[in-house]
Amino acid sequence: MRDQIRLSCSECQRNNYYTNKNKRTTTNKLEFNKFCPWCNKHVKHVEGKMPNPKKQ
Ligand SMILES: [Zn+2]
Repeated sequence: MRDQIRLSCSECQRNNYYTNKNKRTTTNKLEFNKFCPWCNKHVKHVEGKMPNPKKQ
């Protein structure tokens, strides 16, 4: 079962990207260097949980 996660900008904390991962095979916290349109540059995005997937 894959879990939906979101990637939050480490500088402005906005959620710019959504992805998913397999919790059983990927136990470490994901980090991606991605472009943030709010910071207007590439910054580190870190994994965060989806707020409430069932109600969206
Ligand atoms: Zn940002």
